[in-house]
Amino acid sequence: MKMTDIATPAYVVDETLIERNLRILKEVIDETGCHILLAQKAFSMYSLYPLIGEYLHGTTASGLYEAKLGYEEMGKENHIFSPAYKDSDFAEIVSICDHIVFNSFSQLARFGEQVVAAGKSIGLRINPEHSTQVGHEIYDPCAKGCRFGITAQHFDREALANVSGLHFHTLCEQDSDDLWTTILAVEERFGDVLYDMEWLNFGGGHHITKPGYNLALLKKCITYMKQKYNLRIYLEPGEAIAYEAGYLVTTVLDTTYNDGDIAILDTSASCHMPDVLEMPYRPPLQNSGEAGEKAHTYRLGGPTCLAGDVIGNYSFDAPLKPGDRLVFEDMAIYSMVKNNTFNGMALPDLVIQDRDGNCHLQKRFGYEDFKGRLS
Ligand SMILES: *Cc1c(COP(=O)(O)O)cnc(C)c1O
Repeated sequence: MKMTDIATPAYVVDETLIERNLRILKEVIDETGCHILLAQKAFSMYSLYPLIGEYLHGTTASGLYEAKLGYEEMGKENHIFSPAYKDSDFAEIVSICDHIVFNSFSQLARFGEQVVAAGKSIGLRINPEHSTQVGHEIYDPCAKGCRFGITAQHFDREALANVSGLHFHTLCEQDSDDLWTTILAVEERFGDVLYDMEWLNFGGGHHITKPGYNLALLKKCITYMKQKYNLRIYLEPGEAIAYEAGYLVTTVLDTTYNDGDIAILDTSASCHMPDVLEMPYRPPLQNSGEAGEKAHTYRLGGPTCLAGDVIGNYSFDAPLKPGDRLVFEDMAIYSMVKNNTFNGMALPDLVIQDRDGNCHLQKRFGYEDFKGRLS
């Protein structure tokens, strides 16, 4: 089946485009010797984990369930970071993860011995207090008062006996110039500790697969830290792996008018692309322009009863009518991992488009997925 024939709404992930990204990441691996992990929080379409595992070293998780998914479906290196672990989860986490990153010395004291006993590797998340982001604090782990990472002032060099790695994650959709200044901040605050470590994790937020990204400087960052401190370097991008590699295909259900033309779609910003409202941003839409750019401008909205369930204003060459299909782009990341059934909305189908352009339905959801999470 072709993408033009599938039922909607549907997330369609393009295998060719995923592989294009993976090849760029593999080049970084091959040239620097770093290890790259999939941050599952951005993209957890596990039917593609075997393909991703052909290129990358493994997965990283934000909690037990992601860790289990990486363990079951990729089965390579399995890292985890959580701001705090639960006693009841920890035995299972230690059994399936090989690198466990703590957010505080108190968590290290509470769980460290269990990790050592299991022969797994312990890391500490540091906070280099070097903010490189302006304007969206919700994505800035170096924002004042942020709960992530141990600051230099609170870093206890006497408590590192069981610690073999450090981890920082401070970027979001950024280029390697911001990584470089971050690395200098890490060196300034924690450089003496790095000599005693085996590994350093640069976190995610590297926009590596975006056209124009400065790959040469990324490689320099990796090689510099690797050689100076004799470290294994990890990167754990999420977005970069599935950047511009998926679509959300939707159908126009109706058109109305209130101070401008409105189209109601069978997909919802609130349920199926929550980052549009949370970040917020305007997703690219095929064959459309900015408001007023083409002849017919519409406000595109979802079928929920949230007044703000609006994707944005887009213009088209021809008027929209019920049955027209629209294709939102860059919808593989932070989409299906965040979707929800608010208002009893159906979840979109999960579809893979193979290298020949044929679409394969991976999963379809129904009423039971809505009811099953309620009682
Ligand atoms: C979010 C996150 C990532 C992945 O970030 P991307 O922006 O998707 O690359 C990696 N590591 C940690 C600790 C994160 O919180």
